[in-house]
Amino acid sequence: MSKQIMAVDLGGTRVRVALADDGLQIRHRVEEATDHQRGPASVLDQIVRLAGERLRSAGGTWADIACIAIASPGPIDTTTGVAFSPPNMPGWGEVQVKGILEEQTGVPVLALNDASTAALGEFALGAGRGRSDLVYLTVSTGIGGGVVSGGRLLTGRAGMAAELGHMTVDRSGPPCSCGSIGCLESIASGTSIARRFRERLAAGETSAVTAWTDHPTAADVAHGARIGDALALAVWQDAMEALGIGVVNCIHIFNPEIVVLGGGVTQAGDLLFDPVRATVDRYAMEIMRAGVQIVPAALGEDAGLSGAAALGRDFLFPGD
Ligand SMILES: [Zn+2]
Repeated sequence: MSKQIMAVDLGGTRVRVALADDGLQIRHRVEEATDHQRGPASVLDQIVRLAGERLRSAGGTWADIACIAIASPGPIDTTTGVAFSPPNMPGWGEVQVKGILEEQTGVPVLALNDASTAALGEFALGAGRGRSDLVYLTVSTGIGGGVVSGGRLLTGRAGMAAELGHMTVDRSGPPCSCGSIGCLESIASGTSIARRFRERLAAGETSAVTAWTDHPTAADVAHGARIGDALALAVWQDAMEALGIGVVNCIHIFNPEIVVLGGGVTQAGDLLFDPVRATVDRYAMEIMRAGVQIVPAALGEDAGLSGAAALGRDFLFPGD
């Protein structure tokens, strides 16, 4: 067995582990529900156990592994490998993800936040393949981002660059979980779309959506908008305009060739892409928006594993 990459995609709901070679072929993939029983200790134990099982099924040992590359939820310092209170990870404060995993396996560990990892995946194998300048946004429970500029992932000082969900798009907008106001995430994430819709229902507005659910999600709001329900349409359009403004800002700041939108909310398809493209046409500088493609992500739930594999390959072959 030639040197392999152990790719890990850690999420609040699922943890996925696979082996990858330098051609980024994913093999011996497995996934489980994330084990939160003992906070970070049980999650990191679970990663080591799943990785060990992958090795055995591939007939290898830790000596065959060049590195563990991990897509980590929320902010993580890529130099120290310390995660900072990732959302949806109960009991996690500051956690030495890199230090603990290296001690248990004896293998170098690379860690990067999940959205930047997915951006790397889309760049290496997905919708951005063959491009050198890409902006990736995942619109899901929250909104995350990653930027590839000149063929390199934009990392910033400690690997935390491109928190695109926390750009302010409305100075008089709602408070955000990050402590700021009017962040893109506070208006256009799936959670925020559902929350803002329910707030307006609670304030006395009516909607056809309540005919089929007592607890509307973003998907229900999207469906309501599609069938012409006035309240669903108002909340959805507001979110899409905010998302469009976010994309305009990214185009102005990063001058990408392609903007890739992924995450559960993008399942709405044209209902999302049409208004986002219209907002970009309306507000982005013509010279900068010309030729920029705004496209759906291509890798689906394997974006994290593919991106982790790409992160590992960059470690093995720096400068390629
Ligand atoms: Zn924020």
